[in-house]
Amino acid sequence: MSTTPTRIRRSDPSRVVFEWADGHSAEFSAAELRRRCPCAGCVSETTGQRILDPTSVPDDLTQADLHLVGNYAVALRFSDGHETGIYTYSFLHAAGQPD
Ligand SMILES: [Zn+2]
Repeated sequence: MSTTPTRIRRSDPSRVVFEWADGHSAEFSAAELRRRCPCAGCVSETTGQRILDPTSVPDDLTQADLHLVGNYAVALRFSDGHETGIYTYSFLHAAGQPD
């Protein structure tokens, strides 16, 4: 599957780099991922509207932990304590594509 990462690097606490099986790689800042958090606390499940105010996320946020969820996603815990976001590989792969 092209949207499976071959490598996930957390060399810097404020960044996560995904290397995909199709040869692409995508680098995200922790703040960027936190602002795009898809959990029910950040996005309304009924309307799809983002509840989280992106400006409330500091640019120097770091990721405190990352673990794999099954074979389709990663869960991230951020330095602000938020840890309910599940980021699927298909979401991350699409988010990392140049426009
Ligand atoms: Zn969230």
